[in-house]
Amino acid sequence: MARYGGRQTVTVLPGDGIGPEMFSHVQKVFDTATVPVDFEMAPLRADLTIKRDEDFENAIISIQRNGVALKGNIETKLEDPHIPRNMELRSRLKLFANIVHCVSIPTVPSRHNDLDIVMIRENTEGEYSGLEHSPQPGVVESLKIATKVKIEQIVRFAFDYAVKYNRTKVTAVHKANIQKLGDGLFLKIATEMKEQYPQIQFQSMIVDNASMQLVSRPQQFNGGIMLMPNLYGNIISNIACGLVGGPGLVSGMNIGEKYAIFETATRNTGTAISGKNIANPTAFFRASCDMLRYLGLDNYANFISDALFIALTEQGVHTKDIGGTAKTSDLVEAVIKNINAEMKKQKHI
Ligand code: ATP
Repeated sequence: MARYGGRQTVTVLPGDGIGPEMFSHVQKVFDTATVPVDFEMAPLRADLTIKRDEDFENAIISIQRNGVALKGNIETKLEDPHIPRNMELRSRLKLFANIVHCVSIPTVPSRHNDLDIVMIRENTEGEYSGLEHSPQPGVVESLKIATKVKIEQIVRFAFDYAVKYNRTKVTAVHKANIQKLGDGLFLKIATEMKEQYPQIQFQSMIVDNASMQLVSRPQQFNGGIMLMPNLYGNIISNIACGLVGGPGLVSGMNIGEKYAIFETATRNTGTAISGKNIANPTAFFRASCDMLRYLGLDNYANFISDALFIALTEQGVHTKDIGGTAKTSDLVEAVIKNINAEMKKQKHI
């Protein structure tokens, strides 16, 4: 970790769309709360085609030096032949676990209330291995890679997470009835490893049924973890984010053995809403709080998340995506005001 004189340097990859404006709000909030963190900017964007490799390598070096990064989404243009930068970052830095905690926020309108589900997703292999080719015109082969080593790593991570954070149940989501080898291996390893964690309930669920159950009776997953291979994890996590209010609200963590990247859970760029002062900054604020907790700066994280929670609930400052009329800047100002009020009360944190 790059921590000098009590201050931590973190890499910021603002990305495209709303990313840059959102990180300027995070910076303001950090300044207000006197968070001892400095940003090292790594401008990695979809339009930087000429210096592409140099920028990418610089971003990697910066994250390796600092240990952690805050990240906006880098737009992936369909016509771009390269491996998507978002994906390459995760595989190069071996960020094998993606964690998304979907919790209902009171006063935010949604189809179901009181949800509290953790999604843990394998983050580097499966359908995201970037191995596709066309052996002859009209035929495409896409390789889904499943390795024992990486499955064991993510399954172990999920059970250990359950123990550490008092989650009662792990549900392994798969399609082993069709993908007998790949998903079969995932299911076999999860089923075997559960024996080492007798205190944690375990069940498995086929991905199509899991999708239906999540939309119709999500409360059955409360207090637990949904453990998933890469692509199912992407889809199921987005369904869960939709259930608790959408892309503007939820944050996601990408954790590896050495490095970690914090971003929004649904990894949208929000290109269509950028520069309009209408995007919800909540997911970015929560990502920054996740990062502060990871760095052991829990007091600052709690301070900011409490200020945000009060703004969203007691004060009802809601942007358009969650049914309100507030602008991005209204929510940012409310959070800053709440932090200032609390600081005045406490004098210092
Ligand atoms: P792209 O061109 O990359 O597809 P987009 O803005 O059209 O950009 P996405 O980035 O995929 O779409 O986002 C999906 C949806 O989620 C869009 O309707 C977008 O407006 C919305 N969205 C994403 N982030 C936020 C946010 N922070 N606040 C409010 N709405 C958001």
